[in-house]
Amino acid sequence: MDEPATSSPATSLRLPTGIAVSEDDPLLISRSYPEAPHPYRTPFARDCGRILHAKAFRRLAGKTQVFTRSGAESDHSRSRLTHTLEVAQVARTTAAALGLNAALAETLALVHDIGHPPFGHAGEQALDAALRHHGLGFDHNLHALRIVTTFEERYAAFRGLNLTLAVREGIIKHSRDYSPAAHPELSEYFLDKRPTLEAQLIDLADEIAYLTADIEDGLAAGVLDLNLVLDEVPFFAGFYAEARREFPAANPQLLSNEALKQILNTLATDLMTETARQVSTLGATTLSELRANQGRVARFSEPIEAERKKTKAFLYANLYQSPALEAEHAHAEQVVQTLFAEWVNDPGLMPADHAARAHAEGAPRAVADYIAGMTDSYIQQAWEARAAASD
Ligand code: MG
Repeated sequence: MDEPATSSPATSLRLPTGIAVSEDDPLLISRSYPEAPHPYRTPFARDCGRILHAKAFRRLAGKTQVFTRSGAESDHSRSRLTHTLEVAQVARTTAAALGLNAALAETLALVHDIGHPPFGHAGEQALDAALRHHGLGFDHNLHALRIVTTFEERYAAFRGLNLTLAVREGIIKHSRDYSPAAHPELSEYFLDKRPTLEAQLIDLADEIAYLTADIEDGLAAGVLDLNLVLDEVPFFAGFYAEARREFPAANPQLLSNEALKQILNTLATDLMTETARQVSTLGATTLSELRANQGRVARFSEPIEAERKKTKAFLYANLYQSPALEAEHAHAEQVVQTLFAEWVNDPGLMPADHAARAHAEGAPRAVADYIAGMTDSYIQQAWEARAAASD
């Protein structure tokens, strides 16, 4: 008689069940405005739905991930929305394999980039620089929190999306820590404690998704040269050579895709194994033990971390800061900084609700919030309308 299979490779990664966020945890599922439980949807499934139905989520379709205007020349390069969906896939898979709360991880992934301004990182840097002249700054995680707590208006009973505490905490803390002294307004988010493991996974799921996707999009756009990637990214070259041995007749594009698939798979598997190893070394069996630890436990192993760093450095040098994208970045900076300065100078040029916020919160913050919510095409239209008006 055959023995029944007792464990798959995935189940051997499973963490102690007490580490996962429970949807019975009264504090973590609490909402600012108490709501009755839903008859058949769990709290995080509800949050996931609220994010998917939010206007700010739909606007991700019109926001740059890496390619700004040249994105319009290709139907295939990622927008911030399709990037977000890829992060959600990685987050859900890794969280589920580890026995964590996959619904929470997926929800955090879907919301992780919701606070990004138009024009990608160039737009974000320009907005941050503009705010710094006023002693302020732009932080997309804090902006995301304000979107879900304040700016989204869908429900008659409350402002914002009234998300659970676990989701709001994950929104601000997934990629960085905030000092309690500098951010008293965030005191309800356990700033002296590490984020949940579901939140810790998001930053690395984000890296896994964009490192592989940006090589693919960079190659497709002709900004990255395949031979250069093969020469300078050993992580890629190794898998590419393996694929060529296995599929000698396959064309370079298919071999690249095979290599990228293996990179993604290797990063995701390593993230799970190393995170499980870290938790086991720590001896944590409950969420509060994990939260009390000095550092985060979601991480890659040292050899894979070294490959990740090399790959990322390559992308910075050859894609994100490449001369091919310089004109787009300069345009983004000019548009954001010029419109920001004009609207701060005369908030009445903005729609009435934003102009009203300038009185309440100060013009620089209100203008930054207005700009941050825009899609690439919306801010481009504002820019063209301004040019037409001054003709
Ligand atoms: Mg992202």
